[in-house]
Amino acid sequence: MSHPPYRTFRTTVERITPLSPSFTRITFTGDDLHFFGTDCLDQRIKLIIPFEDGSYTDFGQFDEAQGMYDWYRRWRELPDEQRNPLRTYTVRAVRPEASEIDVDFVLHGTEGPASAWATAARQGDELAIVGPDSRAEEAPGGLEWKPGDATSLLIAGDETAMPAICSIVESLPVHVSGEVFLEVPTSADVLPLPAPDGVRVTWLARDGSAHGELLTAAVHGWGERRDAAGSAAAGEDPGEAQASDEDILWEVPEDASGTEYAWLAGEAGTITALRRHLVRDLGLDRTSIAFMGYWRAGRAES
Ligand SMILES: Cc1cc2nc3c(=O)[nH]c(=O)nc-3n(C[C@H](O)[C@H](O)[C@H](O)COP(=O)(O)OP(=O)(O)OC[C@H]3O[C@@H](n4cnc5c(N)ncnc54)[C@H](O)[C@@H]3O)c2cc1C
Repeated sequence: MSHPPYRTFRTTVERITPLSPSFTRITFTGDDLHFFGTDCLDQRIKLIIPFEDGSYTDFGQFDEAQGMYDWYRRWRELPDEQRNPLRTYTVRAVRPEASEIDVDFVLHGTEGPASAWATAARQGDELAIVGPDSRAEEAPGGLEWKPGDATSLLIAGDETAMPAICSIVESLPVHVSGEVFLEVPTSADVLPLPAPDGVRVTWLARDGSAHGELLTAAVHGWGERRDAAGSAAAGEDPGEAQASDEDILWEVPEDASGTEYAWLAGEAGTITALRRHLVRDLGLDRTSIAFMGYWRAGRAES
């Protein structure tokens, strides 16, 4: 039997581990989670959030023969009240031998169904999680960290990118160098993050300042240091039209070549403005930078 590369796993909450005031780690278990296959990094997954009574509409999400692309079309056609919310997250750890995976949630209140679900989660609660199946022949996709042979790195993001950034930094080989900027809600959200000697990790605790302000200043500061080191080459930005303020920016190079690589993810407005700065003002080669709007302030993920 062939297996779709990306499919729905039935999971149950095994453990809930508060990491800090804003982050909680939920460990899921499930009969076939030993087939959940990925190198983690920034592997995205989808959570199908149950309705308040724990129920799901049947739109074929558990039919393995269908694969995600078939049921996603049916899901989109459902009336609003029958459509379980679908939200994008990152798988933080995979332990096939124990049939477990971890997802780190930002608890940002109860307005959003995913955050509300995580806030109220209890051991034994069920959640449908869409992710890569290790038995599939086709690559699942959903991994955007593709630095190629680059050895000079810029990695920047807000709290929603924290799981991806931690996985990426933990995977870095010892010979790379670079800077990592992580903006989090409070000083108490700073977590241990070992990195190679040449990689400097800077946690930026908002502690009341506006979202994105510290991350923006830190990336601008990185640009100034890079300029001072003689790498400036401001130039045209042929992709400017793709990055309007209304869109959720998602621009990822397939084949980064060169020695420099940057990966930025977080609130879409902040990332869009940083894209303009890095590409238009500083002239960075946009084929060596992944820009990803992970969420947009004031707008639910549809
Ligand atoms: C590839 C990818 C990977 C991601 N990985 C993770 C992850 O591992 N962990 C994680 O926590 N998030 C992650 N996110 C972000 C997550 O998908 C969004 O935060 C999502 O909007 C949360 O859904 P929700 O149902 O809680 O809120 P929604 O219903 O989508 O939004 C409700 C309201 O909450 C606001 N909102 C959404 N997220 C936040 C936030 N973080 N802080 C403050 N306000 C917010 C929205 O602007 C909106 O006004 C990821 C996103 C992407 C695209």
